[in-house]
Amino acid sequence: MHSLEHPKLACGHLVQFRSDGPSLLGSRCRRCDELYFPAARSCTRCSGNDLEAWPLGSEGLLWSWTIQGYLPKAPYDSGETDADFTPYGVGYVEMPSGIKVESRLTVADPAALRIGMRMALTLEPYRVAPDGEPIFTYAFAPALPAAA
Ligand SMILES: [Zn+2]
Repeated sequence: MHSLEHPKLACGHLVQFRSDGPSLLGSRCRRCDELYFPAARSCTRCSGNDLEAWPLGSEGLLWSWTIQGYLPKAPYDSGETDADFTPYGVGYVEMPSGIKVESRLTVADPAALRIGMRMALTLEPYRVAPDGEPIFTYAFAPALPAAA
């Protein structure tokens, strides 16, 4: 398979790079069709363990959200401290298949977020590796300008 140049991710197994951009990668139970994100090795619905990697797409609808206003507890590891932490949005995005994905949001302004709005997958700088290389994480951004 041809390997595309792409940024280093804190969560490489969660994102698949395709010719049209990144897509979330989950898994699907071959027995009962249940979807998982992050990908699971066994199915909690039917107790099966025959799961396959399953692309979840790159766009969905904002299902619920909040603003993370303080530094999250471990294992969150952005390198930030209480002094330089910047609040960010976090929410659930409902993908076309119906699965709800928890994600960081690029927007931290309550006035710019609305349940049901279209959201698009993107990559955001998350922290800097010891060698100076920036590490990215997946996030969702509003897919359309907010209504005036
Ligand atoms: Zn199953």
